Amino acid sequence: MAAVFRVSTDFIPCCVGAVCVAGIVFAASLFGILTRPDGMLAVLWPANALLTAAFVRGRAMNTPLGWCAAFIAYMAADLLTGNDIYTAIWLTGANLAGVAVGVLLLRRLSVEDRNLRRPQSVQYLCLTGAGAALAAAMAGILIAILVFSQDPVTAFLFWFSTEFANYVVILPFALTVARWSDFSAMITGFFRHFVMNVETLKSCAPAISVLVSLVLVKVIGGPGSIVFPVPALLWCALVYRLQITTLFILLVSHWLMVVLELDFLSNLPVDSDPYYAIMSTRLGIALLSLGPLTVASIDTARSALVDRLDHAANHDFLTGLLSRGAFMKCGSELISRLSGEKGRLTIMGLDVDHFKQINDTHGHAAGDRVLVEVAKIIRGNLRGDDLIARLGGEEFGLILPGVAPADALGLAQRIRVAIEQTAVGESETGSIHTTISIGVVNHTLEEPVSLDRLLRDADKAMYAAKAAGRNRVVVHQPTS
Ligand code: GH3
Ligand code: MG
Ligand code: MG
Repeated sequence: MAAVFRVSTDFIPCCVGAVCVAGIVFAASLFGILTRPDGMLAVLWPANALLTAAFVRGRAMNTPLGWCAAFIAYMAADLLTGNDIYTAIWLTGANLAGVAVGVLLLRRLSVEDRNLRRPQSVQYLCLTGAGAALAAAMAGILIAILVFSQDPVTAFLFWFSTEFANYVVILPFALTVARWSDFSAMITGFFRHFVMNVETLKSCAPAISVLVSLVLVKVIGGPGSIVFPVPALLWCALVYRLQITTLFILLVSHWLMVVLELDFLSNLPVDSDPYYAIMSTRLGIALLSLGPLTVASIDTARSALVDRLDHAANHDFLTGLLSRGAFMKCGSELISRLSGEKGRLTIMGLDVDHFKQINDTHGHAAGDRVLVEVAKIIRGNLRGDDLIARLGGEEFGLILPGVAPADALGLAQRIRVAIEQTAVGESETGSIHTTISIGVVNHTLEEPVSLDRLLRDADKAMYAAKAAGRNRVVVHQPTS
């Protein structure tokens, strides 16, 4: 059991966690019991999957106190809605057996897989759901024999399909949804900025297609209707963020369970066995959700990879600053965006003094660490909209929009002094110190100019600083 829950010594967070667990389980169980047709298990039973996700995500919930709270909440919901204590204990035991196996298996998965960030994550999540459902179904066999005097094989298949469907459609959402405050902020943000235009219609089209498919399920019906929402869900998986897709899958699956099963039960011929068709429907709904889930998780993994490649292509691997190419592109765009406006633009070229000596004396690796420290110091003196790049070797470039000439000179001096006074590395013989030479160009935005030209001028000023003895700032004087 120690492998299932975490033992925490923090009493107050544990109590708060236990109260949250009790609230989740009690509310979700009552909701499930409301969907229970006479004499059968509930159509919807979100409590177990929600509790499993809560135990995996919430450190303060997965404690002995949290498990006691879950037990009491399951029992309370069952007793309040008419089950006797003997049946309630058995049903609660089955629920908790499934949750325990679900938590154990989920905790063996990597964080990326739990968050569906890798192509094979859905397979692992599916196996986890199957493991948890198997545990609950084994308990279901005992319940069938000892409590309800039913056929154990049917009971096993019925419990397994129900629990499997609940885990597979609820866990992806419950594991990936951000904190409730972020999620509600996202939803309220959407409605606050809602403007009816073509773009909005385009972005809502996948959601609208899901609604249309659900209407078709109800209107057309029949055995094929179970897959009507699949194309719309695949569209959502390609367009929306993972959390939104998992929410759609959860809602659609529950809608299908309610509509198809209740429809089916109300048209059931007298004396026929409802279990087989319900098991088949639940398994079908669970399995059809795997397609869109897989597409959503592959798309998330692909987007993360593209972001990483994009970052690697545009940033210097050592210092994390913009690469020369990205600096030229962003800088040129910035200059053409600002050109014609009133105000000034400052360009700086910065070059570490006698850097070769640092490499020669302390080694190339120490030189690398010095470059990282120098980059940190420069960046620490800038504002959010300033551009900074490592142009190559030990040379850096800056573009600072809207800085008056006197302020630009002051900033360059602050950077120079900060580098002079900071130990930028450690060696066997003590701290490593260095200095920097800076060339500054002030440009009036009204005059059109290219970034190449400005950088050439900044370079000239920087070489003038080198020639004048290094560790100094020289402002470029335009020749009229
Ligand atoms: P100056 O004051 O005139 O700028 O002298 P300097 O020694 O800084 O300039 P120089 O151009 O002679 O030498 C620059 C050195 O920077 C040579 C090169 O080996 C080193 N260098 C270039 N890129 C890297 C790097 O990524 N890491 C390290 N450690 N050294 C680098
Ligand atoms: Mg140098
Ligand atoms: Mg140089």
